[in-house]
Amino acid sequence: MPHKQMNIPAKELIDWYDRSRRDLPWRAADVTAWQILVSEFMLQQTPVARVLPIWPDWVRRWPTPSATAAASAADVLRAWGKLGYPRRAKRLHECATVIARDHDDVVPDDVDALMTLPGVGSYTARAIACFAYRRPVPVVDTNVRRVVARAVHGLADAGAPSAARDHADVAALLPDDERAPQFSIALMELGAIVCTARAPRCGLCPLDRCAWRGAGCPPVQGPARRAQTYAGTDRQVRGRLLDVLRANDSPVTRAELDVAWLTDPAQRDRALDSLLADGLVTRTVDGRFALLGEG
Ligand code: SF4
Repeated sequence: MPHKQMNIPAKELIDWYDRSRRDLPWRAADVTAWQILVSEFMLQQTPVARVLPIWPDWVRRWPTPSATAAASAADVLRAWGKLGYPRRAKRLHECATVIARDHDDVVPDDVDALMTLPGVGSYTARAIACFAYRRPVPVVDTNVRRVVARAVHGLADAGAPSAARDHADVAALLPDDERAPQFSIALMELGAIVCTARAPRCGLCPLDRCAWRGAGCPPVQGPARRAQTYAGTDRQVRGRLLDVLRANDSPVTRAELDVAWLTDPAQRDRALDSLLADGLVTRTVDGRFALLGEG
């Protein structure tokens, strides 16, 4: 058995997952590949707790790619609500349209075909292939990179991402049998709920041979990372402007948008310009503003 696999033994990890996994609705046995894809779009850069209230209603309302494609882009943006990064909603709508039109309403099952879809990058393609179709592909997110950095390499934190190196790292850990997809899922879950960034709960961890813990938990090397803030950012201003548009069924005037952010008019203008450039907002012929497709 290769050395790396000894640090993360499949049996211990998968047994732990079976005992400790979170009961998330998109993990239920009757959830379709499309509904898993929707969850992956929503979970990009967004915590589980914010996706939980949105996903069930969404997949009930639009259970298939064709049902989603038939909805208006504005309705999709509205239902996206406060999930943030609203370009994802637009991409999801485009993705539904392509699957309905070019793939007989069925989500493709291989990574290369998945990566041709709008909004589907390397991580999302692998996650769908693994979670929905049980393909034995490495699925590498921030949580997985951190577990591997600690358990295998003895480092407090993963370095800069490198798709080729990270995939090779995790591919070397996957068991060479039908347990591979379950192993990938369990590794992600361990990083999400036990081997967390700030306070790993090593006492609950099934990995007895973790290299980082074995080395006495050495600190992070290099400068500390600055925490990301949201207040006052262009993202927050974009969110405020979209809130106004979502709350109105008809186009709004410039003055109605202006009151959403009075602190810095130049920043507000920049945020509005970026929403127009991203195609999330349109300008009507009489100079008012509306959600995509409602102008
Ligand atoms: S022992 Fe601690 S640091 Fe190592 S993988 Fe488990 S939770 Fe992470």
